[in-house]
Amino acid sequence: LRLEMQNSEKLRAIGELTSVFAHEIRNPMQATRGFLQLLNEPDLSDKKKEYIQISLEELDRANEIINDFLSLGKPSIEDKKRINIGYQIQRVVNIIHSYTLNRNVEIETDILENCWIYVNPQRLNQSLINILKNAIESMPNGGTVWIKCTTDDRYIKISIKDQGIGMTKKQIERLGSPYYSLKESGTGLGMMVSFQIIRSFKGKIQVNSEKDVGTEFIILLPQIS
Ligand code: ADP
Ligand code: MG
Repeated sequence: LRLEMQNSEKLRAIGELTSVFAHEIRNPMQATRGFLQLLNEPDLSDKKKEYIQISLEELDRANEIINDFLSLGKPSIEDKKRINIGYQIQRVVNIIHSYTLNRNVEIETDILENCWIYVNPQRLNQSLINILKNAIESMPNGGTVWIKCTTDDRYIKISIKDQGIGMTKKQIERLGSPYYSLKESGTGLGMMVSFQIIRSFKGKIQVNSEKDVGTEFIILLPQIS
């Protein structure tokens, strides 16, 4: 007799628990963030400014972890909209910009205009941010991340490519399984959530990676006219 929960049940249980706590935790975090920003006055020493910046980033990181947990095991009854993919990617790049600053990472974009997809924009953002964050984190000494968007008749293709540590074949195979992380303070949830989200949009994710050379994530999403 096995008393273990199935993976999907486990995830649903985590999801339900998390949504109960998430709001309660977010309120004090929001308040802390607000007061930190008030403390951040121009005449502070560089050291103090840096401490405030780190605190803000860590708060944002905690918030993202909450977002990832919240997405677990949720059925994808989506609030979909017709959105312009170029506009959406630019927004994501703006959001992730502060994360690149202390890391010596540049983001270069080559984005189509006037391509439309039918998705939930917040969920798409979350999935792109997870992939972009991994790309940035894969380059401890800095480098470039390229975001390129192309199209054929049926699909929009978003490529996110880094010059990072890369992955072995075995590591690629494990991508997206719950809690799989090679990072000291990783959650191992980002990829799993991203895969779920893209799948819920009837899209696909392909991964090309070479150890010590870099990684390319290719996201294919059905195009609408
Ligand atoms: P986390 O980032 O918290 O570790 P993720 O689910 O986002 O969890 O990623 C899982 C693992 O996949 C990472 O720990 C890393 O080992 C690997 N990975 C994901 N993206 C990349 C990338 N662009 N380059 C190298 N390794 C990656
Ligand atoms: Mg990650």
